[in-house]
Amino acid sequence: MLFALISFFSCAKPVPKQTFFVLGTTCTINLGQAGTKDVYAECFSYLSELELVLSANRSDSNVEAINREAGVKPVVAHPYTLEVLTTALDIARMTNGAFDPTIGPLVKLWGIGTEDERRPSNEEIDEARALVSWKMVQVDTEAGTVYLPVKGMRLDLGAIAKGYAADGLSRLLSTRGVHRGIIDLGGNILTLGDKSPGQAWKIGIRDPRITRGGPVMGLPVISKTVVTSGIHERFFVENGNHWHHIIDPATGYPAQSKLLSVSIIGSTSMIADALSTSVFIMGQEKGLDLVQKFPDIEAILIDNTNKVYVSPGLTNSISILDTAFVKVSDTTQ
Ligand code: AMP
Ligand code: MG
Repeated sequence: MLFALISFFSCAKPVPKQTFFVLGTTCTINLGQAGTKDVYAECFSYLSELELVLSANRSDSNVEAINREAGVKPVVAHPYTLEVLTTALDIARMTNGAFDPTIGPLVKLWGIGTEDERRPSNEEIDEARALVSWKMVQVDTEAGTVYLPVKGMRLDLGAIAKGYAADGLSRLLSTRGVHRGIIDLGGNILTLGDKSPGQAWKIGIRDPRITRGGPVMGLPVISKTVVTSGIHERFFVENGNHWHHIIDPATGYPAQSKLLSVSIIGSTSMIADALSTSVFIMGQEKGLDLVQKFPDIEAILIDNTNKVYVSPGLTNSISILDTAFVKVSDTTQ
C-alpha cells in the first residue's frame, strides 16, 4: 500500500519539459505543472505510433508499404494515413499541385538532409518529375485502400505530418485534462491555452538565413499553432548553390520563390503545416492570395531582401526585434 502511494505521487509530480527524437526531428513538450512522467510518456508513445504509420523513411511504415506496391496493387491504409492524405490532396488541389504529397521520387533523388544528398542530373530530375502526380493517387474510402498506379511513385507526407501530430497531441492532452503547455515538433509550434492566466505565449520567428538562428520577430499567441518552412531547415551547398528541402514539383528543383521563410499562424496545425510549405513554393503574391482563402489563417513571410510581409490580421501584434528586417505594411498589395 505504502509502495503504491509512493509510486502514485512520484508519477503525478511535474517533471521539466521533455525532448525526444521522433518523426525525424527533435520534439520538445513543456506542460508546466501538468507535465507528469506518465503524460509525457503517453505523448511520446503517440508520436512514435504516428512515425510508424506515416514515415517515408522507415521500411516498416504504412506509407512505405503503399510506396512499395506502387504499380502493383492497392494497400490497406491506416486511418492516420487516410486522414493526412485526404487533407494533403485537398491542399494539392487548392495549390494547383505546388503542394504535392507524391513528391517522394524527387525528395529521394535529392536526398537532402541524408548521406546521399546531391544535385541530380537534369535527366534524373525529369524522370522523377514524371512520377510526381497527386491527381493519379487512388483513394478508395470504402475499401480503405490507397493505390499509386505507376511503379516508382512515392508518397511523402513530410510537409504535413508534424502538423497532424501536433493536433493529435493537443486532443490527447485535452482528454487528460491538460489545457496549458507548448509543443515544439522540430519548429512546428502549438500552444495550448495561455502561458499563465491572461498571458500570451511569445513565439519567436527565427532569422531565416541562419540554421536555428535567434528570434528576429516576436508574436504573442494563445491556443494557436505557428508553423515555419524555410531554407535553413535542411539543405546543402554545392558550387555556391544553396539546395534546400522544399521542392517545386513544376521544376523538380528546390523552390526559388525569393522567400527565405514562411510562418503560418492558425488553429489547426495540419493545415498550417501544409500551407507553410505551399506558400513557400508559391511565393509572396500567390501565397498570400491562398492564405486569404482560409478565414482563420495568418502569415509572416520573409524575403531575400529582408522584407517582411504580414497578413492584415497580424499587423498590430507582431514586433520586429531585429531592425535588419523591415515590415511591408499591407501584404494584400
Ligand atoms: P516543411 O518543412 O513542412 O515545409 O516540409 C518539407 C518536407 O516536405 C520535405 O522534407 C519533403 O519531405 C516534403 N516536401 C518537399 N517539397 C514538397 C512539396 N512540393 N509538396 C509536398 N511536400 C513536399
Ligand atoms: Mg509544412
